[in-house]
Amino acid sequence: MPTSVFSQLDKSLHEHLSDLMRLAAKADDRTAIGLARAELPRMVSALKALLDEHQPDENGRCPTCRTRRFSRRLPSPCRAYLAAHLCLTITRDEQRAASGDGSARRHLRSAG
Ligand SMILES: [Zn+2]
Repeated sequence: MPTSVFSQLDKSLHEHLSDLMRLAAKADDRTAIGLARAELPRMVSALKALLDEHQPDENGRCPTCRTRRFSRRLPSPCRAYLAAHLCLTITRDEQRAASGDGSARRHLRSAG
C-alpha cells in the first residue's frame, strides 16, 4: 500500500533525525565533531531545498503554499518558512524559556 511506503519513509527520516539529536547531545567530542562535519552540510542542503520551495515572493507570499482560497489574506511568509527561520535564529535563552528545559544549554556549557 502506498500509505505504508510513505509512513515507512517518514518513520526512517524521523528516526534518522532522532539519532542525530541523541548523538549531538550525548556522543563524545570526537564523535560529535565527526558528526557535525558529515551531517551539517547535508542538513543545510536539505533545509535549503525546503526553503527554496517556500521562498517568499516580493509580496511575502509563498509560491508553494499559496492557494486561491487564501490569496486575499495579508501577505506574509508561510508557516514552513517562519518555522525554519525561528528554529535557526531564536536565541538559546528564548529556546530555553519556550521549552522550559535548560539541559541543552547546560550540555553546551559543560562541553566547552
Ligand atoms: Zn510555503
